[in-house]
Amino acid sequence: MADLAKDHLITTVSEDREATCWGCGLRLLLPSSAPIFKCGWCGAITNQNPRDCERKCSWWRPWRDRCFVCILIVYMLFVICGGVWALYPVVFSVNSFSGIFHSIITMILCVTTLSSFSLAAFQCAGKPPNIQWGIYPVVRKGDLEDYTFCRYCSKPKSPRTHHCRTCRMCIWDMDHHCPFIGNCVGAANHRYFLLFLISAVISTIYVSIMSAYAGWHIWPPLTYRFSRLSGFNRDMAFRVAMEVFVALLRSAVLLSARGLVLVYLFVTSISVQVGLGLLLWQQLCYIYEGKTYLSHLSSRGNDVGPKDCQNIFRFFGCPYPISRYMPNFLRSRKRHNW
Ligand SMILES: [Zn+2]
Ligand SMILES: [Zn+2]
Ligand SMILES: [Zn+2]
Repeated sequence: MADLAKDHLITTVSEDREATCWGCGLRLLLPSSAPIFKCGWCGAITNQNPRDCERKCSWWRPWRDRCFVCILIVYMLFVICGGVWALYPVVFSVNSFSGIFHSIITMILCVTTLSSFSLAAFQCAGKPPNIQWGIYPVVRKGDLEDYTFCRYCSKPKSPRTHHCRTCRMCIWDMDHHCPFIGNCVGAANHRYFLLFLISAVISTIYVSIMSAYAGWHIWPPLTYRFSRLSGFNRDMAFRVAMEVFVALLRSAVLLSARGLVLVYLFVTSISVQVGLGLLLWQQLCYIYEGKTYLSHLSSRGNDVGPKDCQNIFRFFGCPYPISRYMPNFLRSRKRHNW
């Protein structure tokens, strides 16, 4: 009985617990046994029982992503060459001015799309800046406000920095890990990613219009088998639509190789345009709201800044007059409204 009473006393009396802040190294007295606490001096959050949810990432995964990106670039070059081969006889047949004009447009779109894609894919997504931590006099009050500790990189992690398991590093202002560029989208390459989306959507719109125009010119004549039609009703409209569709399929058998490439270009460009257009719209909405995809997933409603078009200008490094900041566009990093 005496032992039981003693145990009871031990479990009910709450005693101050001593713990060390990883941010400034100060020893703190905690009133409760909560595993997570925030330092009153530097503001760093310490989690003494982190969840062990990290799986071992295979060393070949980044290489696999890089290979996929290279295959994608080769595929894009292949499609560009095929498009030029299929479209240009029609474009130059109109007149030489039309040929030169479309050559310049094609060149600009190809260079912009491929260069922005390569920069987004091969540039480091955003290494967090080195900051002082762990020593009390050096770390000043509030220096590490809401920072947590990344135990994979053994470094402090700001609230908008996330650890990517595939890239095996912390990414500053991480938006998401994109498998199509085999890289994270973060502070350093988010603009290139956006530039690629804008350029790719414009390019696919251009390709779909041009392939439809060229296809119209080289498509074999349609042969209809209309029976005598009189009056107009819904049934008749459906029959006419079916007849046109069947005539298109019938004449498609007579298409040349150029015609088949044009059909492929048209269908592919429309599909890619819809997919990338939706992604671009989603990205612009997040930037307008001053957040990233990951902060959107973890947002609790009150930690998001005001929705403002200035967020989009700020993102592209042009807070006020665009011309004044143009030279700094490629050198500076993106800025969200915190
Ligand atoms: Zn501290
Ligand atoms: Zn990390
Ligand atoms: Zn990543």
